[in-house]
Amino acid sequence: MNNLIKESLTKLKQKNLSNPELDLRILLKYASKKNNEIILSNLNLDDIDVVKFRSYLEKRINRQPIAKIINNKPFWKNDFYVNNFVLDPRPETELIIEEVLNIYRNKNLKLKILDIGTGSGCIAISLAKEYKNASITAIDISKEALEVAEKNLKIHNCYNQIQLKMIDIKNINSKFDLIVSNPPYLTEDQFNNTDPEVKNFEPKLALVGGDDGLKFYREYSNNLKNLMNKSAHFICEIGINQRQDCEQIFENSGLYLNKIVNDLQGIERILSFSKI
Ligand code: GLN
Repeated sequence: MNNLIKESLTKLKQKNLSNPELDLRILLKYASKKNNEIILSNLNLDDIDVVKFRSYLEKRINRQPIAKIINNKPFWKNDFYVNNFVLDPRPETELIIEEVLNIYRNKNLKLKILDIGTGSGCIAISLAKEYKNASITAIDISKEALEVAEKNLKIHNCYNQIQLKMIDIKNINSKFDLIVSNPPYLTEDQFNNTDPEVKNFEPKLALVGGDDGLKFYREYSNNLKNLMNKSAHFICEIGINQRQDCEQIFENSGLYLNKIVNDLQGIERILSFSKI
């Protein structure tokens, strides 16, 4: 193994990162002049833009997440552009897509969908690709996040299906068949104790839901019922130990909890509600 690689690996290991070899391979791949898979033991440095690589490595050593360094994160079946103004799409959020697919088996349905707090647009775009006849309103209160979503809409050519709006849920007044959301739900304490990758490089606005993390569920609960058609569903992501509170909040506003989906760690993560 050549010295640059050895030295870089040592630096990453000193930071106690969970996947130093994988991180290194990804950074090398994105700094590579070719597009080959990187094999650390057999690397030709001539194929690497070393200046670019060193700048990527420096960022990773400062705990910048890989996705933010390479401005790319895979979610469901596609890659998405990301920057510091949006959350990196997380694998547990893919469970929202899975749940929608469980409920609406007919992919030709002309679903009217609302995505609240769209961020990078990953949920809306993934649903648009699954349901080619769906029309989706994707809203966010962050102008910068909507710029990222716009970029992803362009990359994935979804302009005809998705409308982006900078608007608060309170000001929406049409009806939908499906409402999805991954709102900010961390408590202030959880945010303060989270990894530097999240705390320093992801937008607090997209992460924290007030002191107890439940602020946005409370806000939605006042509006949701009016935005849902009679047989509509509402599917949202929740944080650790928020199931009981969320169930209460939404049942108080007239919705019924139909299903709880656990994530891979066994944490109750996705709730699916209906009006009837
Ligand atoms: N699961 C994310 C985290 O722990 C939080 C996502 C969210 O607030 N919607 O970093």
